[in-house]
Amino acid sequence: MMQELDLQTYLIPCLEDNYSVLVHDALSGQTLLVDVPDQAPILAALEEKSWPLTHILITHHHWDHTQGLEALKRETGAKVYGPKASLDKVPLIDHALEDGDEISFSDSLLYALSTPGHTLDHLCYWLPDGEIAFTGDTLFSLGCGRVFEGTLKDMWFSVDKLAKLPPETTIFCGHEYTKANADFCLSIEPDNELLKRRIKEVEDLRAQGKPTIPTTILEERATNTFIRANDPALKQALGMADKEDWEVFTELRTRKDNF
Ligand code: ZN
Ligand code: FE
Repeated sequence: MMQELDLQTYLIPCLEDNYSVLVHDALSGQTLLVDVPDQAPILAALEEKSWPLTHILITHHHWDHTQGLEALKRETGAKVYGPKASLDKVPLIDHALEDGDEISFSDSLLYALSTPGHTLDHLCYWLPDGEIAFTGDTLFSLGCGRVFEGTLKDMWFSVDKLAKLPPETTIFCGHEYTKANADFCLSIEPDNELLKRRIKEVEDLRAQGKPTIPTTILEERATNTFIRANDPALKQALGMADKEDWEVFTELRTRKDNF
């Protein structure tokens, strides 16, 4: 059953190109935050909004997602949710999570989705009742994270898992990499009209100094070359018509690493 939520989101640019995001439910007053690249802009945002922080969600152990955690937890007393697999690296986690674990938020449930590849511990979070998901450094707008700890095959199954969320799902990710990703996608799919439209939108937003985030699963399915690795026409264009989806993804991710 669809629970009642009245969500407001607030995107917080941090460091060079990281994002944290606040999600506040006006009905319950609860507020969650995803990743802590830097405590100062987050504390300023909480003060500006007068939202009491209740949940801190951590996607993975990298420093640019966790370095403000100690200060933010101390200042707010919020409970910290994060990957069980990185408890040794992020000991401030109160609730250690694995794939499919549930988190209560207001009257609804958030789900932890294991998405190894960028790191082995990586979790994404999905709030179905809010039609919103947080994809960290796994799925970016028009891109995906570099594969540091898992295999390229792991990463394909992780991005494909996210691509299968309902199309109307709003997506917040961990970095503003959209323009650089767009250049790569266009090099692979120069005739993708929806991609060209998205690139125009991205260029306009960046020219105004605005974020290109959030995006949606629907938008990404149409324009993000990495999650389109299972598209027959794209496989054909790459001369990989008879290859597995993960093999095509591997080719794309490898080309992007050298782009
Ligand atoms: Zn990372
Ligand atoms: Fe990152």
